Amino acid sequence: MLPHLKFPSPLEGEGREGGSRAITAYAKESIMAANRLQPVLDPHLLAGELSNKMLINGAATPAISGRTFPVENPATGEAIAEAPFGEAADVAAAVASAKKAQRAWAGRPARERGKLLAECGRLLNDHVEELGRLVALETGKALRTESRVEASVLADVFVFYGGLGSELKGETVPFNPKMLTLTLRQPLGVVGAIIPWNVPLLLMALKIAPALVAGNSVVVKTAEEAPLAALRAAQIMNQILPPGVFNLLTGYGPECGGPLVAHKDVRKVTFTGSVETGRIVYKTAAEKLIPVTLELGGKSPMIVMEDADLDKAIAGAVVGMRFTRQGQSCTAASRMFVHEAVHDAFVEKLKAKVDAMKMGDPLDEATDIGSIISAQQYERVTGYIKLGRSTPGAVAHECSAMPKEARFKKGLFVRPVIFTGIDNSHRIAREEIFGPVTAVIKWRDYEEVIAAANDSEYGLAATVWTNDLRKALDATHRLEAGFVQVNQNLVVQPGLSYGGSKHSGLGREASLESMLDHFTEKKTIILNMA
Ligand code: NAD
Repeated sequence: MLPHLKFPSPLEGEGREGGSRAITAYAKESIMAANRLQPVLDPHLLAGELSNKMLINGAATPAISGRTFPVENPATGEAIAEAPFGEAADVAAAVASAKKAQRAWAGRPARERGKLLAECGRLLNDHVEELGRLVALETGKALRTESRVEASVLADVFVFYGGLGSELKGETVPFNPKMLTLTLRQPLGVVGAIIPWNVPLLLMALKIAPALVAGNSVVVKTAEEAPLAALRAAQIMNQILPPGVFNLLTGYGPECGGPLVAHKDVRKVTFTGSVETGRIVYKTAAEKLIPVTLELGGKSPMIVMEDADLDKAIAGAVVGMRFTRQGQSCTAASRMFVHEAVHDAFVEKLKAKVDAMKMGDPLDEATDIGSIISAQQYERVTGYIKLGRSTPGAVAHECSAMPKEARFKKGLFVRPVIFTGIDNSHRIAREEIFGPVTAVIKWRDYEEVIAAANDSEYGLAATVWTNDLRKALDATHRLEAGFVQVNQNLVVQPGLSYGGSKHSGLGREASLESMLDHFTEKKTIILNMA
């Protein structure tokens, strides 16, 4: 048997020799485990420890230029760390390390790569609390309702993809009985992954887990607003992965993300972010003729029919609008089309529910809603609220109370707003706000509401609330969106293809098919036996 085809478990061994070898491996593993990073539950302390670090070739490194930029706690405005200002030279170093590591990584059996990824998942699971706290500190997302949940799903994604190594199958093709014709799924090479700040851990995992299992190496560019938790996750994983397989850069879009997409040795780009940046990334990739996955913005409709279970729909509206994430979600149910027969009751109950949510310290277990990510986003969101307020006929239902503590005086808190009295042509219903602002739009005619829901440049997600199965089925077929649900509003789930149509993006993530379609290419091989 070839040595690389053997998968011994640490304690099993067939003969004496095999047994002692296995025990040595087990002892080595125990020593490694004892030396592993331990969770640091004080996020301020951890942020300081992560200061001025990126991860290239398995080593913590500052930027070649030595430049840094500040990372702030948006709930208080205080600086919590400095991050390296990655530029083209750092990109070149990271890509070179990824390129060097990729050949050996791809040469390992796929199941072995999968096992390492699943092991990363298990290790990340030990750091859920630590990572959750760090995400809460750097993004302002509440720990209990958002950040801890995100950290636990991160581990789940690695365990899920870790199990898919043996699914990287090719085919045999009945081309000619005298020839053996088959296809292989081969990795693409170095993958450049660019992520946003709103769900930094999960969105990174959805890119790197399938890329790595498929035998690619990766260079991640984190969002400038939230580089720390992603860096910590990379450090944790780099205890297991070979150096250079997973590199992580911090920096700004044009200076660091741009050179990453443009680098000649990056053979695939996977991007999550805004439509505007997605266009720039797509253009650069087009020049290089490399494949691209784009997960972009959304303006997701939620259609509530006359016969819907109203309480369920309202609970779904709270989850769907991601009020606990300050509405900073690409799938936020930011256009709620509610049948006129239940419109007023819906608005009243929804407002009461959101009113009861506590806005405040993201790290406090009692907090439901934290702060907006940045001053720039704050200006943008409050600008839309002003616009809505100045619209004749529009009513702004403002919910929840602002935190009162003096330390949050400079915090970027925005009270959630539910607008009524506007229609689907209003900018609030057409443009992605990416904040806690939704519009409840009254409707009467089923055909008209389907047309209005589809009258958007976006097509990411949609939900339908009804007990009429025929209508539900009809609506799910006709809604122009990549992720459509009836009577529920789940977020992305490992195993279910997720992604948008129209300006919401290109390609799908989170599933087996997305790994095969986006991180491998097919090679056809013909062996002439005649
Ligand atoms: P953004 O487009 O401003 O930034 C996203 C990332 O791109 C960041 O890392 C940024 O540094 C980088 N970037 C910026 N300019 C670049 C350039 N010229 N070249 C390469 N990289 C560049 O988006 P954001 O404000 O961070 O995130 C919010 C957006 O992300 C919203 O539009 C939201 O809908 C979208 N989003 C989509 C999904 C999805 O799954 N479809 C999920 C989350 C967020």
